[in-house]
Amino acid sequence: MYIVPEVLALHADMRNWRRQIHQYPETAFEETATARLIAEQLQCLGIEVHQGLAKTGVVGVLRRGGSAHSIALRADMDALYIQEQNDFAHASCHHGKMHACGHDGHCAMLLGAAHYLVQHGRFDGTVYFIFQPAEEARAGAHQMIQEGLFEQFPAQRVFGMHNFPDFPVGHFAVKTGAMMASFDCFEITLIGQATHAAMPHLGNDVLVAASHLVTQLQTIVSRRINPADPAVVSVTQIHGGNTWNALPGSVLLRGTYRSFKDSVRTQLEQGIQHLAQSVAGSFNLTVDICFNPENPGYPVTINTPDETASAVMAATAVAGADCVDTCPTPSMGAEDFAFMLQQKPGCYIWIGNGSSDGNCLLHNPNYDFNDKILPLGAAYWAKLVENELPC
Ligand SMILES: [Zn+2]
Ligand SMILES: [Zn+2]
Repeated sequence: MYIVPEVLALHADMRNWRRQIHQYPETAFEETATARLIAEQLQCLGIEVHQGLAKTGVVGVLRRGGSAHSIALRADMDALYIQEQNDFAHASCHHGKMHACGHDGHCAMLLGAAHYLVQHGRFDGTVYFIFQPAEEARAGAHQMIQEGLFEQFPAQRVFGMHNFPDFPVGHFAVKTGAMMASFDCFEITLIGQATHAAMPHLGNDVLVAASHLVTQLQTIVSRRINPADPAVVSVTQIHGGNTWNALPGSVLLRGTYRSFKDSVRTQLEQGIQHLAQSVAGSFNLTVDICFNPENPGYPVTINTPDETASAVMAATAVAGADCVDTCPTPSMGAEDFAFMLQQKPGCYIWIGNGSSDGNCLLHNPNYDFNDKILPLGAAYWAKLVENELPC
């Protein structure tokens, strides 16, 4: 690893910010204390700070020299609705909420980079530090864009980073094209006539219909989509019935579907619609189908070639060429940074969080961001800025 001493010297500060954010996790659009900590740190550095986009978003602007070139670096601030099961000193103090995706670490690394760039950075141009709310299923990036993010802060290119527990410490992974899948949700309500459990012939059994629908939905990927195109349909919730001896009048199914192509995304949506209607029809039920009730659906995260080359160059400078995987398998997970990549050329990179250190997978109640990688991430950001905005 090749981390400059000025970044290494920020390690303790970054660990303190990270653990403070971890201890007081805040979920979508409620990241007020997190935003305050970030804004205060940026202000202490003399960075121009803007607050309020998408309620809790923070944008720092750092200008140097006379160049018109600009770059945006983005971190996410939100936690998840998960009860933490760790018992270390910085475990969550907020019941039912935790930083199980490492966004605490993402904020700390970007703050570390801001400190380095203000104090030691050799660059000419403008750096926008974007701290966004609500990455997890609420599309905070989309809301910031809707509220004028890139009109107010017209960055030429955007870059994002996420920790990845599967990769070892000291490693990065990035590729041109699709890195992460699209993400959409569906909600299906099957409605019939409630009846006594002993007299099913006097009503409609919506639970049997729901069981058929769950298995039918699995045929979309296996029978309707080209096997060469990755896709997932998962039913994640079934709600219906209250007691042993009555058949309910309705049942609710919820789930998600993922893909890497718009055409496949459309096919999945049409398949869900068609099967829900036809299963409902075959059981003499009515059906309500709703797509993306809580967010606009996330597009595919697609890295552009030039910016990916820049990311590889910066990661290589920090980690060494042997530790930068330029051909990783894309993830069926999703990322609302995809909305920013629809607006600007840019690149989203994975930084290894080191599963060998005992850290669990993302969204696990025993997960913790690995503090060892804080200097690596900050050094990557700093190198990227110095490469992209040369003096
Ligand atoms: Zn997550
Ligand atoms: Zn995340």
